[in-house]
Amino acid sequence: MAAPKVAVVGAGVVGLSTALCIMETCPSCSVTILSEQFSPNTTSDVAAGMLIPHTYPDTPIHVQKQWFRETFTYLFAISNSAEASEAGIHLVSGWQVFKNTPKEELPFWSDVVLGFRPMSKAELQKFPQHQSGQAFTTLKCDCPPYLLWLEKRLKATGVQMYTRKVADLWELHNKYDIIVNCAGIGAHQLVGDKKLFPIRGQVLKVHAPWVKNFIRDGDGLTYIYPGIHRITLGGTREKDNWSLSPDPGTTKDIFDRCCSLEPSLQGAQDIQVKVGLRPSRQCVRLQREVLSQGGVKLLVVHNYGHGAGGFSVHRGTAKEAACLVGECIAALQGSSSGAKL
Ligand code: FAD
Repeated sequence: MAAPKVAVVGAGVVGLSTALCIMETCPSCSVTILSEQFSPNTTSDVAAGMLIPHTYPDTPIHVQKQWFRETFTYLFAISNSAEASEAGIHLVSGWQVFKNTPKEELPFWSDVVLGFRPMSKAELQKFPQHQSGQAFTTLKCDCPPYLLWLEKRLKATGVQMYTRKVADLWELHNKYDIIVNCAGIGAHQLVGDKKLFPIRGQVLKVHAPWVKNFIRDGDGLTYIYPGIHRITLGGTREKDNWSLSPDPGTTKDIFDRCCSLEPSLQGAQDIQVKVGLRPSRQCVRLQREVLSQGGVKLLVVHNYGHGAGGFSVHRGTAKEAACLVGECIAALQGSSSGAKL
């Protein structure tokens, strides 16, 4: 059989990392990325890119932990390499603080991040409105640099990239053997997934280089995440809201909430407002599917629905999607020698 032709639909963190994992596991594949938008115009560009997992209710915790561990290990190695600054990957230490102490003492990811421990009384003095907290060091991906770094690596391995909106996966069946659907919230329309819904997030990206530690309110709504050049201040979580327009009232609310956690942010400069739609589901859709139309078969691998935690698990889910592509290739090789798909 000739080199399998794979089309990856989508160029956010999930599409780019999936294409890279496919090239790593199947270097003889010909991989093409087709996407309506590339960086800096994807949801992934809006994200803070912090490695603090979000929980997917319908995915077993040990699977989520494995995805997180693989992602952490991969990015930790980049943060320790000469590539770190270009890739926008860096370690960041800080605190997650709670007004009401959570019942669950240790989150499932506490032994993956570095130095996880309860905050001391002295540290908690910084947060007079909060009862308890956790201190740890994690990783942060700055976007767009991380997406541009992934694109550069992909181009170096011969992956082609085209700007194109795909209205129907069947458009691609004449040209490609396997389609990998990494369309994020776009999968709602592309494959009619009614289980996928947007959770709108508005954030501010500001210049305040004196703020070095992250601060996250345990309710997940208010956060301060320092990047290499800018700090992300958040946020909002608005289910089923498809609006990409920034709301000025929300901007003021986010700024005030963040200043009450870190008063020095009053001096922040150059405030930019961004909005993104988290592609949310009860579980990430990581699945092989064989579509069939008039006796013709189309092999599809889905990898979308990462919600509020796409950066935290992207490498783990990309590796799993690449394994599913490997299974499709084996099925194709089997079918060219007579077996069924
Ligand atoms: P996207 O980045 O949306 O990429 C989808 C791609 O598919 C795009 O290129 C799009 O153009 C393309 N596409 C869609 N439909 C089609 C079509 N029909 N044809 C062709 N191309 C198509 N996660 C974390 O882990 N940590 C964080 O700190 C964090 N912060 C966040 C803050 C905010 C405000 C938001 C909104 C999200 C945050 N997230 C965070 C979540 C994270 O951003 C997402 O989980 C992640 O970006 C999803 O990546 P994706 O590649 O699936 O989607």
